[in-house]
Amino acid sequence: MVEAQSRVLRLVLLLLPALLAPPALCMPEGDAPASYAGAQLLRVNASTPDHKDTLKRLEESGAVELWSGIVSHKKTVDVLVKPDKEQEVKQKLRKVRAEYAIVINNLQDAIQNENPVISEEEMLLLEGRKGHRMTWHSYHRISDLHGYLDFLAQTYPQLCSVITIGNSVEGRPLKVLKISPPGSTGQKAIWIDGGIHAREWISPASVSFALKELVENFEAHFHGQESTLGSMDWYFLPIANPDGYEHTHSRDRLWRKNRLDAHKGSCAGTDLNRNFGYRWGGQGSSRDPCREIYAGRSAFSEPESAAISNFVKSKASIMKAYVTFHSYGQYILYPWGYDRKVPPDYRDLNRVGQKMAQAIRAVGGSSYTVGSSATTLYPASGGSDDWAKGSAKIKYTYTVELRDTGRYGFILPAEYITPTGKEALAAIKVVAEAASQEP
Ligand SMILES: [Zn+2]
Repeated sequence: MVEAQSRVLRLVLLLLPALLAPPALCMPEGDAPASYAGAQLLRVNASTPDHKDTLKRLEESGAVELWSGIVSHKKTVDVLVKPDKEQEVKQKLRKVRAEYAIVINNLQDAIQNENPVISEEEMLLLEGRKGHRMTWHSYHRISDLHGYLDFLAQTYPQLCSVITIGNSVEGRPLKVLKISPPGSTGQKAIWIDGGIHAREWISPASVSFALKELVENFEAHFHGQESTLGSMDWYFLPIANPDGYEHTHSRDRLWRKNRLDAHKGSCAGTDLNRNFGYRWGGQGSSRDPCREIYAGRSAFSEPESAAISNFVKSKASIMKAYVTFHSYGQYILYPWGYDRKVPPDYRDLNRVGQKMAQAIRAVGGSSYTVGSSATTLYPASGGSDDWAKGSAKIKYTYTVELRDTGRYGFILPAEYITPTGKEALAAIKVVAEAASQEP
């Protein structure tokens, strides 16, 4: 009898996230989850204009997806090729004598090896022992992550609280964890978000790692002799694109956009990081809904980007820093993204950016390149960072591209969560220190 009861309890606990999740209103019916069996990740030498043009044309025709984009200072491009296009793509590359290496031979295998399954026993043990289901040795569903934010607010009510700043297209909450240290004057604040792009799983994992450290190891991080970190409020939005994130877990690991018009299959979704309202619709964004960089119907047409901007704008006078985490490439980028230009105070941004990179190395982390967004990578308009700097006038605005540099790309194995999370935390603390010293 006891045995049967505990089995029922286990079942209920296991099903709980699914029962609590909002109904998937717009899921295309009957579609099997996307398979990447036989898909390859190629590193293509693109050192001549001929090479680059060929890659651009292949991308526009939908034959490949450029994971790393065509970056001016880099000689190679990471290119995803599905098996039905392999012949055509390789033929065209050979024709212009673009050399390539196969980095991942079968993407589906990489996807299967990326995230170790947590056993039912371990999950129940965790829940019982810690009061939540989050770990940082695997990538979790949104219910675990949101459950963890609620757990922190309940466990440390003097220190933090959860604010829902809006809802996604499919009605999922955009949950922000606010940390308000006892020494905070409420006159300064820092914003940190992750997961605007759905498939960049390391971003929500690292952002949640950083907030876990700051809350659960509060003394260690806030009570240093010189530290002024405790003098301001912190706002964390670990999953800015909850629908897209769930879609990457349930249907298509490589989905990037939000889930607007989900019935439109591969033409669904808006790129939320092209939907912000500063220089919206310019270079590096598209009006074509089928493209990965679709800017949306208008600036802030999407509830996710609108909610972020409304919330941040309401605190713009106290917001001193805005850090948004993406992957991959290991870059610390400051505005502008819309063009190869820099804001008047770019020296300050560069100086603090370099300090972030040093701090990352000092915690045993990897090497990050610092520079302005459009010059270091490529122009992209409608990004949240340009809006934060240009419209909300937030001084220390950064986009951080986390690990790696292309060995695994978006499919970074879960064993890298903790080391990457430590890098994110080190970077955040440097920005926060600079922010806290702003007038
Ligand atoms: Zn991204």
